[in-house]
Amino acid sequence: MSESSLRADIVEVGRRMYARGYTASNDGNISVRLDASRLLMTPKSVCKGFMTPDMMCITDLEGRKLQGDRDPSSETLMHLEVYRQRPDVQAVVHAHPPTATGFAVAGIPLDRAVLAEVLTTLGSIPIAEYATPSTRELPEAVRQYIKAHDGMLLANHGALTVGADLFAAYYKMETIEHFAKISLVARMLGRENLLSREEVTRLQDLRGAYGIKAPAPICAETAEDESCQVVQAPAGAGRRLVPDPPSLAQRGHASFGEASAKADGEREIRLTYRELSALIEDAIRALR
Ligand SMILES: [Zn+2]
Repeated sequence: MSESSLRADIVEVGRRMYARGYTASNDGNISVRLDASRLLMTPKSVCKGFMTPDMMCITDLEGRKLQGDRDPSSETLMHLEVYRQRPDVQAVVHAHPPTATGFAVAGIPLDRAVLAEVLTTLGSIPIAEYATPSTRELPEAVRQYIKAHDGMLLANHGALTVGADLFAAYYKMETIEHFAKISLVARMLGRENLLSREEVTRLQDLRGAYGIKAPAPICAETAEDESCQVVQAPAGAGRRLVPDPPSLAQRGHASFGEASAKADGEREIRLTYRELSALIEDAIRALR
């Protein structure tokens, strides 16, 4: 791809990120490989929604500016680390999409086996440990996950995606935010039906069939291996129902005396408000 079309693509991706609310003010940054030794990088302190092709900086792989009127992004170090660790990556996108960043703030990774298209493309979306933006700590936090993941959350900060071209990296950012919204709604509704481990394996096999290049295979839930992706999926056929949070269980409307088995084997009884009031009145009467 020519340098001029790459500059135009960065402008377009910046415009889409800003239009979708993935960045506010001057947040976010985008880079692409120009050739074996040079990167094209968004400049520092510019709103990504209103860039022009001439604003981009050209840097070497050490982050030194080779060309451009403006200074390269303050997160250049994070981009450089990704290119160092992943020779296959051609583009890096960083933004603060609000729902995904909410998960990053809550410390909840998007690693449950819920959506087939997320499993076949991104796999799991872990959270890189918090690090002060623009410092050397951030590339170190990213390094732990970047070999096995094309997308991750950055704790208390935002999200990072990479790809074989700029639009591939950008679409992964869209997928993460979309997945985060769906996960949030499911959790607000009180439950998530997870896909089984067998289904996850089947979906993983589809990666090959559809020519999807994932950076690493999906491994078992308990694995602590940086070379694979950890996805939470129940073993055995069928689905696991993630238990309702206690607040929802209390609001339950099951008929009197109905007991529901909880995941940990503890049993609970759900009462309607009227039934509960009757029990309290009985208890008070007994006390008199
Ligand atoms: Zn940021």
